[in-house]
Amino acid sequence: MPRRLTAGGAPPAKAGSALQRLLARLGLRRREDLLLHLPLRYEDATRITPIAEAAGVGSVQVEGEIVSCEVQFAPRRQLIARLADASGSLTLRFFSFYPSQQQVLAPGSRVRCLGEVRQGFLGVEMVHPRCRPVRDDTPLPQTLTPVYPTTAGLAQSALLKLIGRALAGPPLAEVLAPECRERLGLPTLWQALKTLHAPLPGDGLDALMARDHPAWCRVKLDELLAQQLSLRQAYLARREVGAPPLTGSGALAQALRARLPFALTGAQERAVAEILADLAQPHPMQRLLQGDVGSGKTLVAALAACQAIASGWQAAFMAPTEILAEQHYLKLKSWLEPLGVRLAWLTGSLKGRAKQAERGAARQADLVVGTHALIQDGVDFERLGLVIIDEQHRFGVQQRLALRQKGEMPHQLMMSATPIPRTLAMSYYADLDVSVLDELPPGRTPIRTRLVRDARREQVLDYVRRKVAEGRQVYWVCPLIEESESLQLQTALDTHAWLQAVLPGLAIGLVHGRLKAAEKQAVMAAFAAGETQVLVATTVIEVGVDVPNASLMVIEHAERFGLAQLHQLRGRVGRGSHASSCILLYAEPLSATAKARLKIIYTHSDGFEIARQDLRLRGPGEFVGSRQSGVPLLRYADLDKDADLVEIARQLAHDMLAEAPQQAALHLDRWLGGREELLKA
Ligand code: ADP
Ligand code: MG
Repeated sequence: MPRRLTAGGAPPAKAGSALQRLLARLGLRRREDLLLHLPLRYEDATRITPIAEAAGVGSVQVEGEIVSCEVQFAPRRQLIARLADASGSLTLRFFSFYPSQQQVLAPGSRVRCLGEVRQGFLGVEMVHPRCRPVRDDTPLPQTLTPVYPTTAGLAQSALLKLIGRALAGPPLAEVLAPECRERLGLPTLWQALKTLHAPLPGDGLDALMARDHPAWCRVKLDELLAQQLSLRQAYLARREVGAPPLTGSGALAQALRARLPFALTGAQERAVAEILADLAQPHPMQRLLQGDVGSGKTLVAALAACQAIASGWQAAFMAPTEILAEQHYLKLKSWLEPLGVRLAWLTGSLKGRAKQAERGAARQADLVVGTHALIQDGVDFERLGLVIIDEQHRFGVQQRLALRQKGEMPHQLMMSATPIPRTLAMSYYADLDVSVLDELPPGRTPIRTRLVRDARREQVLDYVRRKVAEGRQVYWVCPLIEESESLQLQTALDTHAWLQAVLPGLAIGLVHGRLKAAEKQAVMAAFAAGETQVLVATTVIEVGVDVPNASLMVIEHAERFGLAQLHQLRGRVGRGSHASSCILLYAEPLSATAKARLKIIYTHSDGFEIARQDLRLRGPGEFVGSRQSGVPLLRYADLDKDADLVEIARQLAHDMLAEAPQQAALHLDRWLGGREELLKA
């Protein structure tokens, strides 16, 4: 049965009758909305089971005469009735009830009760069955009874009636060609809706609840098709905008390659080729470069920047934190400055005249590196041709929008080390082209991950001493304390003091979010230069920091971190040629999910696999923060379980926009009616 989320982002209810307002709360305004409001489950009221055979067989309907009914007060207030038919009798038990229910259950009345019959304290009983008064000749319904998602104050019977009326109208127009439906083995949408709203007894409860039922598949495909259509439309609309074709000579890039002590990996070569092809187009590139931690995205970005610069345009490189931005700046400077490229670093923390000077320099530079301060308060680039956004998922939709609104639309390269499983990428980033770095540079040593109980931290200290004696360096990550930033800071200070006490003779640095930018830089520079052996850090080092000599990562209270975070943190080691390890300290007792997370990070090193498992654990909505992404939540389809349908929907959307745009418009209106603007981000 499809997972179901409430229709997110419905516009506020218009004034209208009370019923209309209730319906609007469920996003139900038009006939189509009612038809696409599908049951959560079904009840089978088409048959009557003799009481003697009703126990332990799941949900059943029994019919009989009430022989007694009374309110009991011990052990708590409850309504107890006794129902009998020719085969036997059972107890009906209600812990909350209305006087009207008491009337239905008056001794002597005939009722039908739907529910599960269980062995109770005093023989067989039904707890909170759905009871209906009947006469001897009341007919049985011909179809299974759907149970709809509803809202307080709106009865199932009212929804049933409204949806029944909608079903009695003319069939909805079909958007898929007959050959296409046949190839996929799917019914028409109208057939599917009729099956799901008013299934015949022969359709079988179990079959209807299965997610591969053809009727459900049809609905899920249509829902995914609407999503793909709207994303594809947004993508095409953006291609209408002009951007400078960056077709300059490859000499600068060639010079950079010649300076590198290594060759590009095959994956890097492929990504660079894809990017260069995009940059030569007269419309803006919208490309996402995905690659696991350490796969070498920075170099790919640098080569893209070379292309922009060689074509006479400026490039901007943005990172989510100052530490990261500075690391990028230093790296890019060491690569590019000797080649005559003018670089500028924009901190965002300067004030007044210093800020003015910094901005002035940025206006002139070939390559500007900084945090999102770059897009926030007006740096007027003279000729901005390419924007590179590192750790794209850290930037909100708002920031991406702000960037696009900066006059001429530049080419955009977004980078992410949070690998997103393919189907998710196709949905949430269907409006982006994607390059994947699926290969790590050679010579990396695998990282050994160890789980260590907090109580045994003495052993960890011994290990740290040994590694430092071998000339290596160590990250020591403080626990994440989400509730309180000041508590988190205090923990970092405490950990630092403690390590200084227990590791005498070692130089121990401390970096956390409250330090001033210049202080942070000094601490990081000392660590990068090997002047400090141990770096105590809060999660500020989560992304992108690159110190190849650091080969040991200790993470305190690893059970408090998310999987993506743990993977990112672990990726800070294993960057050089030394055998590296990551020690995850955890405190007992562990919750079930914490245990599951630690097991995943312990068993897997591949970021894509970890992301897939994470998705399983958390569900897709939370995974990419879909509420912020503006993509409406799927009600029926599941991006993980219905991966095959996502592929089909993507192809269909592509063809439909090219060959049958009216059908596409009809379909979009049917599913998203008036909510498309949510997708524009
Ligand atoms: P990420 O994809 O996580 O941003 P980086 O760009 O920081 O990875 O690269 C990680 C390290 O690998 C850096 O030190 C970088 O210089 C190095 N590197 C990049 N490409 C290669 C390559 N083809 N061969 C060897 N080392 C490389
Ligand atoms: Mg990086």
